[in-house]
Amino acid sequence: MSWFRKEKRGPKVQPKKVIPDNIWIKCEACGETLYKKEVEANLNVCTRCSFHYGLTPDQYAALLLDSGSFLEHDSVMSSVDTLSFVDRKKYSERLDQMVKKTGRNEAVVAASGKIDKIDVQLSVMDFSFIGGSMGSVVGEKIARSIRRSLDGHQPLIIISRSGGARMMEGIFSLMQMAKTSAYLGRMREENIPYFSIMTHPTTGGVTASFSMLGDINIAEPGALIGFAGPRVIKQTIRQDLPDGFQRAEFLLEHGMLDMVVPRRQMRYTLIRLLHFMLD
Ligand SMILES: [Zn+2]
Repeated sequence: MSWFRKEKRGPKVQPKKVIPDNIWIKCEACGETLYKKEVEANLNVCTRCSFHYGLTPDQYAALLLDSGSFLEHDSVMSSVDTLSFVDRKKYSERLDQMVKKTGRNEAVVAASGKIDKIDVQLSVMDFSFIGGSMGSVVGEKIARSIRRSLDGHQPLIIISRSGGARMMEGIFSLMQMAKTSAYLGRMREENIPYFSIMTHPTTGGVTASFSMLGDINIAEPGALIGFAGPRVIKQTIRQDLPDGFQRAEFLLEHGMLDMVVPRRQMRYTLIRLLHFMLD
């Protein structure tokens, strides 16, 4: 009889650690691998290089408005495929998919709310809905937002994040540039302040209409803002572009913007500006 008895065991099998997806993200600006939850807790701003990733319209509204004051308008408005447009897929199919994916009917959320107890109209674009592109409904919702500002004599804030006009609606989307700009002209006549906040990226027909027409044009740090993108310009003029071209800081330096404001300070900045312009 032996003192010890060897138990026959198979090879040790460690239980597999399940690592859920999306715990880490790689910053597109500095390349650092970041803990996603930490970035989210930092208002979706890179904890290393301060690159500002997008927020959803709900998140941005929650950041800026007094709590409990958010009231959405025109959420049922949805686009139709007037031109029966087909690219890689039918525009009508694309719209259906986007509605399912985002839970929203269009690429902008229009709302009333209060900032420091001041009544305001706020519209926030949603980049995840066909690149935040402006079709007939986005243009109409922005126009109605401006109209509510005019009717109630309330300051207007539009947060842009867009690839530009919506190609699938052809001239109907380009018409929205003239429509929104004309309405903003009336805001000027009535002396009602309009604050435009441009986030990364704000390009094309949106930049060429309401985004650049603010009484105060504000951008988030590092935001790409322009009409045509840098690659198209470089290929057209066949020249190298300067460092930081079309970025918020470059535009501020060249007189295209009034302020570059980190997201964390945006609400406080708006409160200061609202009191300055209304008092
Ligand atoms: Zn970074």
